Amino acid sequence: MKIFKFGGASIKDAQGVKNVTTVLKKTGEKDLVVVISAMGKMTNALEEVVTAHLAKSDTLKDHLLTVETYHYDILKELFPNKEHAIYKAVSGLLDQLKGFLTSSKSKNHAFVYDQIVSYGELISTTIVSTYLSEENIKNTWLDVRGCIKTDDNYRDAKVDWEVTQKRIIDKVHPTGITVTQGFLGAEHENNFTTTLGREGSDYTAAIFAYCLNGESVTIWKDVPGVLNADPRYFSKTQLLNKISYREAIELAFYGASVIHPKTLQPLQRKEIPLYVKSFYNPEDEGTCVGKGVTLDPKTSCFILKKNQVLISLSSLDFSFMMEDNIGDVFKWLHEYKMKVELIQNSAISFSMCVDNKYDKLDELLVKLREKFKVKWNEGVTLYTIRHSVPSEIKALTRDRNVLLKQESRDTVQIIVKN
Ligand code: ADP
Ligand code: ASP
Ligand code: MG
Repeated sequence: MKIFKFGGASIKDAQGVKNVTTVLKKTGEKDLVVVISAMGKMTNALEEVVTAHLAKSDTLKDHLLTVETYHYDILKELFPNKEHAIYKAVSGLLDQLKGFLTSSKSKNHAFVYDQIVSYGELISTTIVSTYLSEENIKNTWLDVRGCIKTDDNYRDAKVDWEVTQKRIIDKVHPTGITVTQGFLGAEHENNFTTTLGREGSDYTAAIFAYCLNGESVTIWKDVPGVLNADPRYFSKTQLLNKISYREAIELAFYGASVIHPKTLQPLQRKEIPLYVKSFYNPEDEGTCVGKGVTLDPKTSCFILKKNQVLISLSSLDFSFMMEDNIGDVFKWLHEYKMKVELIQNSAISFSMCVDNKYDKLDELLVKLREKFKVKWNEGVTLYTIRHSVPSEIKALTRDRNVLLKQESRDTVQIIVKN
């Protein structure tokens, strides 16, 4: 059994969905789990629906219309026959979503978020599965929420591996093609939908591979594979042919967004190879993440994270920045779900670069100011460079306002003000 994952970019339009059939036909795989994300940027569009719903804003219907129109435009191109059953299936899902919006009184943002954004994947898999059938690629649509069981930490749910493994083995037929949703799960108690964190579909693919002892995972991307830098920000990039799990975990953890960081450890545990390949050129080799060689070709890798916050703390009472002070800082960071990207401390100051993913910065600052003198800089960029040579760092920082630099054996991190 192999696992394929198609992300939002690969199915952003009707042409993309058609290309999924081309990839499946070209690779000729018969026993597959196909994990699929929401189409294009539909998760972002559904986030707007969440915000408008919770704010009881008049814009709710416009945001809903955006979601509906996007999917119906794709449907019209894929299924010219308006009587096709797919139209009923998709409108049924949209009706369920509208039903939730009308009936839900919950103010729990994270809970409401998961109940709404999950329709992106429910709709996309319904469309892709039906289109594959239409193209004579026999497949079974699987509701992943019956398989991936999680806790109720909405928006970042933790997988219960034991139950999940049992369910997956039970529900996935060992032969043939199964089409299922990335990113989603369901909590134990009431079966409410949960999500595994933004961009979590890669992780879903890894969960299936781990539980089924899969032969390999392939994630199909709009790039030739893992490159030594994000081509959106760097003009000259190089394809990495082979990377070790360890190196890939480091790259993903520091923010190389081509692979979700949670994806790699389950695969490493069972030594299941991960291929990152181009959905435009499915015959090309792409990148293989696996056992053995650290990095081939051996080259420096650049990772960039925009919109970070650099916070510097010093004590109000001349005390040093020691364990007791720092302990509080970490407790609050955890409480406000701020991910720490870099830390530097001296006797009297403590600096950290954090990702304000859940928009909690203001609340955190209020807390910090009770105890510390606080300085902060929003909108800074964090560069992480692995295996660099000094001339590259020099070139990168030339004419830039460097706020902080940290260097270890394989990694240089630099924070610059844009
Ligand atoms: P998906 O469609 O699966 O969601 P993503 O858009 O999340 O795909 O990931 C693909 C994108 O990741 C590429 O278009 C590229 O801009 C970005 N990216 C960031 N870092 C890298 C890297 N090191 N190598 C290749 N792509 C990268
Ligand atoms: N659709 C989800 C997101 O955009 C999950 C994924 O694409 O991996 O975050
Ligand atoms: Mg993605």
